[in-house]
Amino acid sequence: MNEAVKETLGFQTEVKQLLNLMVHSLYSNKEIFLRELISNASDANDKLRFEALHNKELLENQPELDIRIEFDKERGTVAIIDNGIGMSKEDVIEHLGTIAKSGTAQFLTNLTGDQKQDAQLIGQFGVGFYSAFVVADRVEVFSRKAGLSAGEGVHWESTGEGEFTVQTISKSERGTRVLLHLKADEVSFADGWQLRTIIRKYSDHIAFPVLMEKEKQEDFSAETDEDAEEKDAATVVDQGSEESSSEKKEAVATEEQVPEWETVNKATALWVRGKTDISDEEYKEFYKHISHDFEEPLIWGHNKVEGNLEYTSLLYIPKRSPFDLYNRDTPRGLKLYVQRVFIMDDAEQFLPLYLRFIKGIVDSNDLPLNVSREILQNDKSVETIKSALVKRVLDMLTKLSKKDADAYNKFWSEFGQVIKEGPAEDFGNREKIAGLLRFSSSKQASSEQTVSLDDYIDKMSDEQKKIYYITAENYASAANSPHLEIFKKKDIEVLLLSDRIDEWMTGYLTEYKGKNFQHVAKGDLDLGELQDQEEKKEQEDLESASKDFIERLKETLNDKVSDVKITHRLTDSPCCLVLGAYDMGVQMRQIMQAAGQKAPESKPIMEVNITHPLVEKLKEEIQEDRFADLAFILFDQAALAEGGQLDNPSAYVNRIHKLLLELSVN
Ligand code: ADP
Repeated sequence: MNEAVKETLGFQTEVKQLLNLMVHSLYSNKEIFLRELISNASDANDKLRFEALHNKELLENQPELDIRIEFDKERGTVAIIDNGIGMSKEDVIEHLGTIAKSGTAQFLTNLTGDQKQDAQLIGQFGVGFYSAFVVADRVEVFSRKAGLSAGEGVHWESTGEGEFTVQTISKSERGTRVLLHLKADEVSFADGWQLRTIIRKYSDHIAFPVLMEKEKQEDFSAETDEDAEEKDAATVVDQGSEESSSEKKEAVATEEQVPEWETVNKATALWVRGKTDISDEEYKEFYKHISHDFEEPLIWGHNKVEGNLEYTSLLYIPKRSPFDLYNRDTPRGLKLYVQRVFIMDDAEQFLPLYLRFIKGIVDSNDLPLNVSREILQNDKSVETIKSALVKRVLDMLTKLSKKDADAYNKFWSEFGQVIKEGPAEDFGNREKIAGLLRFSSSKQASSEQTVSLDDYIDKMSDEQKKIYYITAENYASAANSPHLEIFKKKDIEVLLLSDRIDEWMTGYLTEYKGKNFQHVAKGDLDLGELQDQEEKKEQEDLESASKDFIERLKETLNDKVSDVKITHRLTDSPCCLVLGAYDMGVQMRQIMQAAGQKAPESKPIMEVNITHPLVEKLKEEIQEDRFADLAFILFDQAALAEGGQLDNPSAYVNRIHKLLLELSVN
């Protein structure tokens, strides 16, 4: 087979969509293509340096790793060249023809076609190699993987319109050269000053030198009159001797052949520098480099730890959650360095799952350079670093919540659901995590206005001993639940929990600052000191006066309820359903059903408001089947009022119809 044959392949559908999205999203910020390509080049160099720790030969005769930027004004091209790990033909087809992130296809179905709206989405996805097509109408990639022979290079080329070609080529230097043929209206990027400015702006923190050829133009401008005179003098002298003249020409020629390269960026790892030497802009650009996020981070924390364990961490909290936050297979974790040498991406051993949205790096001085994921899993120092990092993140968030409530609320709306996994996963930090939680409340006007547990406790009266909450399928069901009636009457705040995860979370979060949590629709409602003696007496009287009625109701609803009681929870509704203290609520049942498991059977207690006119009417009903119909209707309505679902909706509807007909007859 002829190896040099050029193959034409199609992009994966997702790539085509992404390319489209990219071009429209970045039109006002085109220059970031360079940041993305330099970022990839830096990653490639990092990977080579890591591989070379075990296999020195990979360095060939080029042990110095750098990134070079070339341009050609006339041709309108810019090239980004690294001498890193490189790509084989298979790598190129895979990495530059498909998108490996799982869930991408689904994410892209969210595209509306409205370019403004869609442009926002790129932030959730991350930019990358394909941003090259924002400024170029043709991109070529020349690459050779470290360790492969010169004859095993590869050439990739595409106009970004659905297809690309690959061809085996010969390439003497290891690494990758990305050559951009700029669009006619983007040729201004092929300019030394422009490129230098962009590099300093976005890639200053890249740990490898980013080199550019020293510009002749600069030499001219730096040329003094004296220099010029000297040159003239030389020319005059040269005219005198043929020999020396040709020698001189040769010298000039070789000088031109060996370009002089200069480093444009700072070229030291950012986190090694002192905090005070790093500007906010630099921190932000570094975040974009490691996260591929299009937006700036919300906040960050940079810490150097010395002593028994020595390590540096730089942790960022993003502004927006990525599209695949809930995807189990999404890589997560920190970039791990050991003594400044990049070791791996996505080292997930340094953070718990409920902090999986954190981006950043950790650089350890104690771990061995040949550390593997397996070693990390069982390493004591990793455990220690992990718990310190968790503490840092929780402190960072606590501080933010105190300092800037608006910013914290934004954080909460993006990541609150994930933080709610915390109390179960990280029992030791449960109280700290609980302090970060935000809830809707019966005393707030809308679901968006939330309160913290500290706010809640601050507002508690001396008589109130518990933190009251209700879980429901959605905010409206929680906010309008009949179970809140007594609390409204007594002006007691109830937290309204309607996220899928809430009921599960409350299984792990049973107290905060010494106060127990109490579900208002589960178990006996003990209002303690909130209920006065008079009320208690009144209730006992009502109970003894209605004994027979309650018994009759219980017999009728025998299949549906575990008990019938007189309530002190209700003021306006005729009845409500109460779960046993340890019974599963609606949310947990749904979670179990979604997981294909059968939720355990449990019957609620029906509590009736004995002074309600409907109940009084029922009490007086002598006809047995009419009593039964009314009793079932009351039961079903109690379930509906709480946002529950009926076991047998048509039986309910039939009973109502019957009742309506009777009404119209009378
Ligand atoms: P990301 O960098 O977020 O993975 P990109 O679209 O930027 O996404 O790149 C896709 C993949 O292509 C990279 O993960 C990497 O494997 C490969 N790649 C890109 N640029 C280079 C390069 N200069 N050298 C080696 N591999 C590269």
